[in-house]
Amino acid sequence: MEATKTQIFRIDRGNFEKTIRAAARIIRDGGTVAFPTETVYGLGADALNPAAVMKIFQAKARPADNPLIAHVSSRAQIREIARDIPACAFDLMDAFMPGPLTLILKRKAIVPDVTTGGLDTIAVRMPDHPVALGLIRESGTPIAAPSANLSGRPSPTTAAHVAADLAGRVDAIIDGGQVRIGVESTVLDLTSQTPAILRPGGIGIKDIRGCVDEVKDAGGARDVGNARDVASAGMGVVKSPGMKYTHYAPETPVILVEGDPESVVTRISKLIAEYHKKGSRVGLMMTEETAEQVSGDEDLILCPRDNPDAYAHNLFGGLRYLDGRDVDVIIADGSIQSEGVGAAVLNRLRKAAGSR
Ligand code: AMP
Ligand code: MG
Repeated sequence: MEATKTQIFRIDRGNFEKTIRAAARIIRDGGTVAFPTETVYGLGADALNPAAVMKIFQAKARPADNPLIAHVSSRAQIREIARDIPACAFDLMDAFMPGPLTLILKRKAIVPDVTTGGLDTIAVRMPDHPVALGLIRESGTPIAAPSANLSGRPSPTTAAHVAADLAGRVDAIIDGGQVRIGVESTVLDLTSQTPAILRPGGIGIKDIRGCVDEVKDAGGARDVGNARDVASAGMGVVKSPGMKYTHYAPETPVILVEGDPESVVTRISKLIAEYHKKGSRVGLMMTEETAEQVSGDEDLILCPRDNPDAYAHNLFGGLRYLDGRDVDVIIADGSIQSEGVGAAVLNRLRKAAGSR
């Protein structure tokens, strides 16, 4: 694509309103703005303007059949773009909006095809971040915003990550510091018979169970430790088109080692020995406990094993950091519990690792 001049807006105490106004003008004029949310940075454009939404796909080199999430700042805005909203959606909104939960609803005709990848449904979310909410409000339109990375790369959790991927490809980047959560929203489909989790994320399946009678996990078979969910996860069709693509991957190959802590440590030690025998350099992304027992050529310690929130917070930055070091392989420590945000962390690492 042709190079664009990318404006960088840095948010500080004195300039919030002014920055939001300038960025919202770009959105209203059909441009693209990357901005922070509580999950990861998003690349936004007017969700109701097909030419603007096309620019997101071009900037990210994203496949056209991978639909976008419409970010809203009010429930009224959800009603503008979605129809036949089921009652449980309002319970979920009460509990988790604003927050890292995306709902798939039936779409209204006002939503252009490019935004939904031609689907009859629309993904909606209300981000829990003052910059994101301010930008949507000031723009006066829902903002379509996938993660602000080149398609397939790790999601950005700082403005520097966004610039590394998208400088020269988007109109503006708002730098609002490092994001709080670090992994994307949970995507919950409310248009199927039984509500289904299409992607694990910031809100755990247990939390959602508090609001809906039944919910199945269609996102990652092993994300939930119960037999019924594992059985239902095998359903052949890809409901969330994004799930079929390689994702979150640095250029350096990633190997994920999952299991109980003891076998993870044993396996990582063996892998390090094998790679060293071949003359390869190993980057390790680990919990503190694993780091007490193994070390590679570049060691990145993320968090204590019982703190999946901290793992999530440091995950994508960690992958990008090790990708920039002189290593031939990145080994990721998967000895955390697959619960709550831990399920989202393992899901992202599995995708980053492909089948390795
Ligand atoms: P991203 O915003 O890049 O984190 O990706 C958004 C995710 O939501 C992708 O996995 C999409 O496939 C999924 N998604 C968006 N809209 C829909 C929809 N209408 N139906 C199902 N999945 C969707
Ligand atoms: Mg993404």
